[in-house]
Formats: sequence, C-alpha cells, structure tokens
Amino acid sequence: MKVIDHLNKAKSTLFSFEILPPLRGKGISAIYEGIDPLIEFNPSFINVTYHREEYVYKEREKGYLEKIAVKKRPGTVGICAAIQYKYKIDAVPHLICGGFSKEETENALIDLYFLGIDNVLALRGDPLKSEGNFSPEPNGHAHAVDLVRQIVELNTGRYQEEDLKNPTATDFCIGVAGYPEKHFESPNPNMDLQYVKDKVDAGAEYIVTQLFYDNQKYFSFVERCRAAGITVPIIPGMKPITTLNHIKMLPRTFFIDFPDALMAELHKCKHDDQVKEVGIEWCIQQSKELKKNGVPALHFYTMGKSEATKRIVKEIF
Ligand code: FAD
Repeated sequence: MKVIDHLNKAKSTLFSFEILPPLRGKGISAIYEGIDPLIEFNPSFINVTYHREEYVYKEREKGYLEKIAVKKRPGTVGICAAIQYKYKIDAVPHLICGGFSKEETENALIDLYFLGIDNVLALRGDPLKSEGNFSPEPNGHAHAVDLVRQIVELNTGRYQEEDLKNPTATDFCIGVAGYPEKHFESPNPNMDLQYVKDKVDAGAEYIVTQLFYDNQKYFSFVERCRAAGITVPIIPGMKPITTLNHIKMLPRTFFIDFPDALMAELHKCKHDDQVKEVGIEWCIQQSKELKKNGVPALHFYTMGKSEATKRIVKEIF
C-alpha cells in the first residue's frame, strides 16, 4: 500500500521508522533485531536507507596503494522485500541520484516494481567524502527533482528505451526530503523551499523532514511550505540523542542546531547513559507536542537500534 494512502486513511498520527542496511558481511538477523521490538506499535511503513559507494585505499605489493570503490551497506532492495514478506508491512526504499545513471535507476525501479514495493523516497544523496560538491554520474541526475521526474515518467509507462511495445506503467508513491533548518548547500531558506516545491510539483506526494530538536523550526517550515503552495503531508523526522558523541556529530553532520534548553541539560551529562536519558525525554516531549498538533506521522531515525525509539513510542502511541 502507498504511504500516501496510509496517511489519507489515518484517523490520527501514524508511527513509522527508518533503518540502515547492516554493514557488508553481517546477516539479515541484525535487521530483524532492530525491527522486532517496534512491531507491537504497528508501524505503518518502514524506510530503508541507500548507501552509495565509498573510495578506500588498499595497500598492495611494494607499498603501492590501490583506490577501490566499496559499498559498505549494500542490500536496500533485498531488505525491503524481506520486510514486506516477513512482517507484511510496507517498506520504503530510499533511491538516490549519486552513483546511478538513468538506466541503473530504471533497473532498480523495475526490481522494486516486480517485488511489489509501492513506495520510493527519492533523494539526491550527499557528495562523496572525497569530492567537495555533488557530481552526478554521466547520464545520471544532478538533483532529486530529476529523479522524481524519472519515476513519474515510469509511472506513465515511459521507459529510457523509447521503442518498447506496450510498456507497463509502474505505480510508485514518491516521497522527498525537506529541511526545516535549510539544506546546507542552499543559498537561503527561500531558494531551498522553492526546490522542495519543485519536487512536489514534479509529482512527490509527501515530504519527510530532516531531524530537528526544536519543534518551532518544524512548525515554521510547515507554515512556509503552506504559504508557498505546498499542500502535501509533511512528516517530521525524529532522532533521540543517545551518546556524548551525538552532541558534536549530529549538528555537524546534519547542519542543525540544538536549542539552548536541550544544551543546558546535555552539558550536565558525563556519560552516554545520562545523555540517553536526556535525549529520550526530550524526544518524548517533542513527539507529544507534534502529535498534539496533528502531524501526519512521527518518523524515527532508529539507525537500526530500537531501544530508545521503543521507550519513546511507548509513551506516545
Ligand atoms: P535535492 O532536493 O536535490 O537538494 C540538494 C541541494 O540542491 C539543496 O541545497 C537544494 O536546495 C538544491 N537544489 C535542489 N534542486 C535544485 C535545482 N534544480 N537547481 C539548483 N539547486 C537545487 N542520503 C543518502 O545517501 N541515502 C539515504 O538513504 C538518505 N536518506 C535520507 C532521508 C531523509 C528523510 C533525508 C532528509 C535525507 C536523506 N539523505 C540520504 C541525505 C540526502 O541525500 C542529502 O541531504 C542530500 O545532500 C540532499 O538530498 P535531497 O534529496 O534533499 O536533494
């Protein structure tokens, strides 16, 4: 079932979450261990991230270094199929522009279609760590909006190869990303919003936000979206802070701010366990306020670890 149908049918705020494929070499049981504890809360859909290749240097004979591409977390499509088969819950694969030509994108979409997966979250992906700016593949997409357009084309039966006889149209529901605190590359919030609108105008049916810790940022983002004519559901993305490392890493990685009141609590913490208590309590209060304000769903970035999310959703759903 499509995410948009889940949202339209819902009588109150839904619960959903995101997982990461395990590191190469790990089995699927790592995935189930992250999902099983959350099943009792009836997630409406489960997102699975996509991780493109990274370049690493391997030392060879005589000290030569060989640069090789590795995908550390393969398996997005297979995990989605496994989730739908095992739990009968809709899986939402993330599909990115980075590392994909249009033909490879189409091949991935064909696999998803054959597996009975109805949803895709269409993203650009970050630049490779070794490149400053994002570079699309030759014959790939430079922005998520172009990926949305390709999926919409496939939904009308238009494939890359033009002379196919009676091609079958796919029927994917497309979600896209939005940034309450602005995407880090955007020159200003209004341009950023315009690009979000372009994705919706191109055919995206809902937006999932980047994580945030100040609900006012989400509320004002929704207000600005509505004023700009973006009418689709906007799902808040939530991530509890659980380690001392998160205090530095989350703002730096996701270009977000921690509110003063949260920082004041985090400053008192000396150990991960203390941070986890503060982070979970903050996320519970955030979630309660968002739910009270009728958000379409609360979407948790679990990173494959369910304990903190479970404690939060127990208080909310
Ligand atoms: P875009 O919408 O293409 O925007 C990228 C930048 O370009 C923005 O600054 C935007 O303002 C600008 N822009 C957009 N359109 C245009 C245009 N036509 N002309 C000029 N500028 C333009 N990354 C992964 O690698 N894998 C994942 O699974 C993944 N999942 C995510 C899930 C969510 C909910 C979110 C919020 C992010 C996720 N990301 C993931 C990270 C995402 O790929 C990065 O944030 C990436 O830098 C931007 O992706 P986007 O889809 O927002 O890109």
